[in-house]
Amino acid sequence: MNQQRRVAVVGAGLGGLTAAGFLQRYGFAAKVYEQAPAFSRIGAGIILSANVTKVLRRLGLEDGLVAAGIKSKSYVSRAWDTGETMAEFVFDAEAERRYGGPYVHIHRGDLHAVLERGVASGTIAFDHQLVDLKETRGALRLIFANGAAAEADIVIGADGIRSKVREFVAGPEPPQFAGVTAYRAIFPAERLDGFKIPDCTKWWGTDRHCLPYYLTGRRDEVYAIGVCPADGWDSDEASVPAMREQYIESFAGFHADLQRVLQAVDTVSLWPVFDRERNDRWSDGRMVLLGDACHPMRPFMAAGGAMAVEDAAILSRCLAEFDDVAAAFRCYEATRIPRVGKVQDISIANTWMRGPTETDWFYCYDACTAPLAQIP
Ligand SMILES: Cc1cc2nc3c(=O)[nH]c(=O)nc-3n(C[C@H](O)[C@H](O)[C@H](O)COP(=O)(O)OP(=O)(O)OC[C@H]3O[C@@H](n4cnc5c(N)ncnc54)[C@H](O)[C@@H]3O)c2cc1C
Repeated sequence: MNQQRRVAVVGAGLGGLTAAGFLQRYGFAAKVYEQAPAFSRIGAGIILSANVTKVLRRLGLEDGLVAAGIKSKSYVSRAWDTGETMAEFVFDAEAERRYGGPYVHIHRGDLHAVLERGVASGTIAFDHQLVDLKETRGALRLIFANGAAAEADIVIGADGIRSKVREFVAGPEPPQFAGVTAYRAIFPAERLDGFKIPDCTKWWGTDRHCLPYYLTGRRDEVYAIGVCPADGWDSDEASVPAMREQYIESFAGFHADLQRVLQAVDTVSLWPVFDRERNDRWSDGRMVLLGDACHPMRPFMAAGGAMAVEDAAILSRCLAEFDDVAAAFRCYEATRIPRVGKVQDISIANTWMRGPTETDWFYCYDACTAPLAQIP
């Protein structure tokens, strides 16, 4: 039955590739359409907490993630001026057992290379930007900017914050600038000149924060993301190059330990943070959304990618469980919306792990076994 159900996943991000990997294992014919001509090694890292790594383990990817990234030993929150430790979270063997998976930092380019191994070869059609979607004789017809077209029984919009699929599900509504921009810099650890840093530190200022962390188990590559208030964003680009001096200046007055790290920064890019009003309309007919396409996250809890991966696992389970697509989507939404709403609220408040924090509800969650919501 599932073999006849063709699923078109739009977007080869974290959520799209995870969904395709699970759907193929459930017997669906899943294909991924990605607008980019290829994956590129953009200058950014990402934190994958235990609720992500345990899901990706089911696609056979955990070892690859750990090999390409780093199993972090700890996360430290420090005050911007005095350097006082406000909280420390240790990720030792005991924590890994309790949470059910490791806490990994990884370069986004390396993450994509690992994720690609979770889907059958030939699954991803690059250079396919979705421009139109039409209902035809019980199927959906996808039209791409390169002139190609495809048919599917189900379309999953995993196409990020500027989702095209979302326009067909919920109507056109451009995302809003969230009033902050993020400096992102990756540099070789040797530029620290022997200065030792913990695996991950969040420096908490009054209106800004900076998060330096290692990207590899060799601890030879550092990523430092610094988020600051900004009046607006007037570029059409996803990011623009920035001056290292501008980054350093934005954190002038912060503790000497952070200054030491920022002095090691070499090349920097500046990224806008966009957001949307919450809208719980995630599906329509045979179209459904996941990840940033339906619920963008401010990047203050390191949870946007995590929510996309959890969505993908739950949506795949619902599609495998219910023959009726509408019932599958209802179950998916009812299961996901309460948890995602809570994570969105915490991300906006920017309070996660600032001080002592109960983390089990977030990290122990397993999207592959968590109960699905009961639907009438
Ligand atoms: C500064 C910053 C730091 C962050 N740090 C973290 C972190 O540490 N941990 C974490 O979990 N999350 C983090 N996030 C959030 C995380 O990056 C996103 O929530 C996550 O990438 C969303 O995944 P996704 O699969 O929904 O979408 P995306 O990763 O955005 O993927 C969407 C894909 O769809 C493609 N696409 C778009 N439109 C089309 C189209 N029309 N046709 C075909 N393809 C299309 C895009 O090219 C892209 O490949 C951060 C975000 C920011 C901005």
